[in-house]
Amino acid sequence: MRFYELSEYFSKLESTTKRLEMFDILSEAFSKSSGDEIAKVVYLMEGELLPAFFGVQFGVADKMVEKAIAEAYGPDTKKVESEYKKLGDLGKVAENENKNGSGSSLTVSEVYNELFSITKISGEGSVEAKITALSNIFKKASKLESRYIARFVLGRLRLGVGEATIMEALSKAKTGKREFKKELEKAFNFCSDLGYVAEVFYKNGEESIKRFKVQVMRPIRPALAERLSSAKEIIEKLGKCALDQKFDGFRAQVHKKGSEVKVFSRNLEDITNFMPEIVAEIRKIKHDRIIFDSESLTYDEDTNTLYPFQITIQRKRKHNVLETSEKYPLRLFVFDIMLLDDESLVDKPYIERRKIIEKLFPEDAIISRSKIIITDSEKEFEKFFDDTVSSGLEGVVAKRLDGHYAAGARNFNWIKIKRSYKSRLNDTIDLVILGYFKGRGARADLGIGAVLAGVYDDKDDSFKTISKVGSGFSEEQFRSLKKMLDDIKVDHKPARVDSIMVPDIWAEPKYVITVKADEITRSPMHTAGMENEVGYALRFPRAVSFIREDKNANDANTVKEIEEMFKEQKNLKVS
Ligand code: ATP
Repeated sequence: MRFYELSEYFSKLESTTKRLEMFDILSEAFSKSSGDEIAKVVYLMEGELLPAFFGVQFGVADKMVEKAIAEAYGPDTKKVESEYKKLGDLGKVAENENKNGSGSSLTVSEVYNELFSITKISGEGSVEAKITALSNIFKKASKLESRYIARFVLGRLRLGVGEATIMEALSKAKTGKREFKKELEKAFNFCSDLGYVAEVFYKNGEESIKRFKVQVMRPIRPALAERLSSAKEIIEKLGKCALDQKFDGFRAQVHKKGSEVKVFSRNLEDITNFMPEIVAEIRKIKHDRIIFDSESLTYDEDTNTLYPFQITIQRKRKHNVLETSEKYPLRLFVFDIMLLDDESLVDKPYIERRKIIEKLFPEDAIISRSKIIITDSEKEFEKFFDDTVSSGLEGVVAKRLDGHYAAGARNFNWIKIKRSYKSRLNDTIDLVILGYFKGRGARADLGIGAVLAGVYDDKDDSFKTISKVGSGFSEEQFRSLKKMLDDIKVDHKPARVDSIMVPDIWAEPKYVITVKADEITRSPMHTAGMENEVGYALRFPRAVSFIREDKNANDANTVKEIEEMFKEQKNLKVS
């Protein structure tokens, strides 16, 4: 495929505000892609060269793109700078300065490979070398192409396409139907790399997708837990089940292959470098290949205390990781295992996986296992829950004894129950920011007074609004929030956002915040769970966290979960 053709699809995608149109554009683009280029097309559509966990970065700033435009098209950098100030988009500036008319002979693979080579430039003189490499691409590109190349290297392509929509469109493009999406999803859940899945699908066909297996060093999309608020309901649902301690730390998915180790966070960022002391321990495991799921917590040896998430996550922000790792070492609590040497364990019953964990990991070590009990008695359940909570942990996760490892899914194989569920809507809700409202009154100076927030709807891969959130942020947080949102603002409602409210500034759905609210109510103003013109809304919402670094937009709570919380809240009201 020529890159010009792909640019035309980009242009169509950025001008649509409807998800169904987006689906049609994607299916058409995919049907015109060959097996050799489909991975590249998928990555480019997502605005990246590879999934984030590969850690591939351009390291290209606005100023460098300005220089590359000037070098390629002739105007001096001053003019480029002033055009950028005027238009606020270096993509538009490149397009305007470029006199190469319409269409070029560049192919998608050529552009992808040249862009990729920019990410490899490092060391002394790399800034100049990157500018030259970029200006060389600009020189070959036509007007429309240069628009997208500039935006892409700056991470501002923002077409708003979602993974679920891409998979559905791939299915349609290749099989003529949408149904094969389910199989693609399963493969994607096992490797978290949509480009790779698309390539296997195009080159090796449907059977190879159906046989797709987890592979070491390719992160598995984490299994997630449903929620219920009493031992009774959980035992009714699962029968005899395992109760596992729920640690409030930082999720760590560990991969080991020989002496090579990688650790991935809940949203599959590569966090290996943040835990050198743990990596050394992992290397000691006497198996060539292993993938396991665990929670990492900061541990104070003197007082024998485990510190929660807020403290543990600080490690990620600190520069002196080595020093921190000596002062506040981490411990891992293994709660699941997905691969051991040649054997994939994801389809084995939980209880068998647990036996392997017990063989491999002792109860008291740097890498230890969580403690479980197996029961169908409400009384025993309550006692284990109370003991766990009084030892400072968050709650328990009940596990279906014959449940497989449900990669990328939230279902009743795992059910969490936290101490906070005991009272009405005391649990927090994770919302994705969809835009913001400019401040009025006291907040006029800040330029931001509240954010429009929503939840994820996995039924149609969209975001539905549920609340305006204006309290809980400090002035300083508001200031940085505005900066972060301005950086990802879009000039019209993104196609996957479903909203009645119109914020002053729309933003690409990206950042997740955690809020607390007094109650879930019904409102005609919000689209989450909308039926007969009323949706769900939050009463007195306030932010209790700033940006959740371990969650992506799709990890916000879902409409289905809000519905469940709403029902649960009604039950609690009656009793
Ligand atoms: P939360 O914010 O409640 O932790 P979440 O959206 O991050 O929720 P859930 O799937 O709803 O994730 O809850 C399970 C989370 O609990 C996992 O992401 C994991 O990090 C953590 N966890 C701690 N201990 C366990 C355990 N023993 N088994 C499974 N998950 C555990």
